[in-house]
Amino acid sequence: MTATLPTSITTRASSTPEMAPLPISLRISQRLDAAGAAYLANDNISEHLQDGELDQLEVEVAGKVRELLRSLVIDIDNDHNTEETAERVARMYLHEVFKGRYHRQPKIASFPNVKKLDEIYTVGPITVRSACSHHLVPILGNCWIGIKPGDRVIGLSKFSRVADWVFSRPHIQEEAVMILADEIERLCEPEGLAILVKAQHYCMKWRGVKEPQTSMVNSVMRGDFRHDPSLKQEFFELVKQQESMLY
Ligand SMILES: [Zn+2]
Repeated sequence: MTATLPTSITTRASSTPEMAPLPISLRISQRLDAAGAAYLANDNISEHLQDGELDQLEVEVAGKVRELLRSLVIDIDNDHNTEETAERVARMYLHEVFKGRYHRQPKIASFPNVKKLDEIYTVGPITVRSACSHHLVPILGNCWIGIKPGDRVIGLSKFSRVADWVFSRPHIQEEAVMILADEIERLCEPEGLAILVKAQHYCMKWRGVKEPQTSMVNSVMRGDFRHDPSLKQEFFELVKQQESMLY
């Protein structure tokens, strides 16, 4: 008898539990730690993802959602309604409602402000959809953006694109508005920037205190809007006009 094991058995013998590859989420978070990059709920980590990893992450998340459903004592093996819920939820998180964490910012070109435009303008309402970081239930609302142009300008529709990307993460509203302001400043370096967000929080409507009408309104003022009260006033006046056009 020979002592040599067939190749297939040797391979199987070497894949002991400690040799098993780490879950993809752990490999990504280790990479983020090594790079000193933050990966809080409302951070974007797309720069640290390698080709194909998002697909692997989708498989991992689906597996975990399946376990969550089992822990909720839902018979996913026999319930035709929840049979593929885990896969749907994984896709929804990674590619829709939290896409702003995993996908890169949509390409937004800025152009020189050749006409030296210096009057303020507002864009809105822009629909914003997010989820609260505390319960992962929806935050839905509207956003208005006021700009006093600087050296560069971007197209009006681009404000919707960047807002959608920023809000599609788990958030608290106060931080979402700050992050959106940072991104817009980076894109077009305005002399002044004002953002107003009015949103309804389903963690107040659907659960908890169950207040169906309560909304949260907050704003951020940068540059000239911060220093010039009349400009800030003009912004709120323009938003009021845009709101009145809705009814
Ligand atoms: Zn909440």
